[in-house]
Amino acid sequence: MQSERILEIVLDTPLERIFDYKWSGETLPKPGQFTLLNFGRREMVGLIVAVKYESDVPVEKLKPVIAVREQLNPVSRHWIELCQFAADYYQRPLGEVALPAIPKNCRASKTTALDKALKKLAQPLKPIVPSTPPRLNDAQQTAVHKIVQAKGYAANLLYGVTGSGKTEVYLQAASEILARDSLAQILVLVPEINLTPQLFDHLQNRFPEVFVATLHSGMAEGERTVNWLAAHLGKARIILGTRLAILASVPNLKMIIIDEEHDASYKQQEGLRYSARDLAIWRARQLDIPVVLGSATPSLESWQHANTGRYTKLSLPNRAVDSAVLPAVQLIDLSKDKPQDGLTSSLIAALKLRMEKGEQSLIYLNRRGYAPVIACDACGWMSSCTRCSAFLVLHKQEYKLRCHHCSLEVRIPKSCPTCGNADIQPLGRGTQRVEEHLQLLFPQARIRRIDADSTRLKGSAQDAFDTVHRGEVDILIGTQMVAKGHDFKNLTLVAAINPDTALFSQDYRAGERLFSQLMQVAGRAGRAAQKEGGNASKVLIQTRYPQHPLYKSLKMHDYPKFAKDCLQERQQAGLPPFVFQAMLRAEANELQKALEFLNYAAQLPAPEHIIIHSPIPMSLMKLANSERAQLLVESSSRPALQAFLKEWLQQLRDSKNRVKWNLEVDPAEI
Ligand SMILES: [Zn+2]
Ligand SMILES: [Zn+2]
Repeated sequence: MQSERILEIVLDTPLERIFDYKWSGETLPKPGQFTLLNFGRREMVGLIVAVKYESDVPVEKLKPVIAVREQLNPVSRHWIELCQFAADYYQRPLGEVALPAIPKNCRASKTTALDKALKKLAQPLKPIVPSTPPRLNDAQQTAVHKIVQAKGYAANLLYGVTGSGKTEVYLQAASEILARDSLAQILVLVPEINLTPQLFDHLQNRFPEVFVATLHSGMAEGERTVNWLAAHLGKARIILGTRLAILASVPNLKMIIIDEEHDASYKQQEGLRYSARDLAIWRARQLDIPVVLGSATPSLESWQHANTGRYTKLSLPNRAVDSAVLPAVQLIDLSKDKPQDGLTSSLIAALKLRMEKGEQSLIYLNRRGYAPVIACDACGWMSSCTRCSAFLVLHKQEYKLRCHHCSLEVRIPKSCPTCGNADIQPLGRGTQRVEEHLQLLFPQARIRRIDADSTRLKGSAQDAFDTVHRGEVDILIGTQMVAKGHDFKNLTLVAAINPDTALFSQDYRAGERLFSQLMQVAGRAGRAAQKEGGNASKVLIQTRYPQHPLYKSLKMHDYPKFAKDCLQERQQAGLPPFVFQAMLRAEANELQKALEFLNYAAQLPAPEHIIIHSPIPMSLMKLANSERAQLLVESSSRPALQAFLKEWLQQLRDSKNRVKWNLEVDPAEI
């Protein structure tokens, strides 16, 4: 009699377990293959993780699988191990990590879309005119050499200011790796979708004979399937993507590059709350390959690793274009130069000068909308969101008040809803208000605003950036969106008009984020060679605290000094990277219920080197009618924290409590 064969399968369900199914077909499936099966009343696709001959469940009670996905090559053991690591580290079931990392079309019960994608993949590449690599300067040369010469795993921190030529180092290191091994694949991550087209062109022109796949969340499902399959089947030699690409199946992966490694977008903020940068390090170590982390303002975690020798620091000290110099940073003291409508006279004079010379200026303000709140002077009423503990933001052109947290929209009231006063006024300013004011000041100027509101339509962000590149804009106003990656050749003035708010945030990372944002936005100025007789580019910072150490380091372009100060403070205060943290968050219709659950969690037994803090309401306590609280857990030992979390979560899952909760390991925000 033939013994039964049993497949161990994981599924995309919150149940922390592996399911046994029976196999009675001819050829025995392999681990890594996908299979269609019945789960409850649904048809689902699962991933086979093992084949065995015995089960704890009597064989006659096991269901058979329906069909194995023969047209989909199995994923590698390494890939399953990567998902298993992410599942363990971020405390989620394996199935919830592995299956969502596969395009929907590959795990649908019908295979029509998958077959179509496979057919499309067989088509030949379009011919491309190749670009020639420029000569590297000495520092770039050394960096490329060190990256490609290292044997096996090596984490490299490529530290260099904007314009120092990090991209060229990536390209030439990639070129070596691809030339060395005809199957080699390289994974390149960028923090944002709108940075992919620019780098895609660079990569495709440099490597015209190579399939460059892209993976990000903005792609249509069919397109994503084709690109994912190209990586999975080894056809794409370069895979360019945002954070989700770190979980792509890349069987011959030989190098990982993470551009702007400090960027907060590498951290997923819902579901599996993973850090793509941290997974990249793990994946490189697992595969024994190099990883390159590039930044002008590295995360303090990476900087600390470079200081202690865990990572190799590769510095690019100069801007690659010889005559390009770093912009001069000037602090405008708001107590001396009093602003009108948010703009100081020094700033207005500088804008005027740029317009006369036909050069471009950028006004940076990380707050969209017209004004963050409207208020009544008579009774103190303010426009609050009824569903969140936040204000409704005035969007004047649309005549709406909008909540930036839950998207609630209401019409602007004609008078104060509380006392009837007709004179209600906007307080503070957002990008729209600055735009309006600048138009009054400079009626002839061509002014363009780039923020999430002005670029809602697909392709409109690219359009807006193109008009700036073509020189059709005199003054650009923008949020964070304009700070990253864009190289504006004729831009010689950058002004941050209200950066101070971040100095006194309760989140200990706010200063680190502010410094890197300002460095990055400053880097937009004068990246190309200065025109003959032109002034060096200038960065103006309007502040009430010109003596603040953060601004002093910024003025000197001295990231190492800033990092040293911050790390010292963090060490004294016992904050990451010197301790390891996890955040348990709970939400309910009443804050009390969320706090009760967290109090229950806090009193569960914990070993002595685990510190459980007291539960507190979150700073944005109410969100879309849910009331939220959080509980911080810390330890100076990462393994001890991991071991504790595993047991702790089991007890929380078993508890009868009805609140919604989640856990974030290495929380990005406190
Ligand atoms: Zn009132
Ligand atoms: Zn709201």
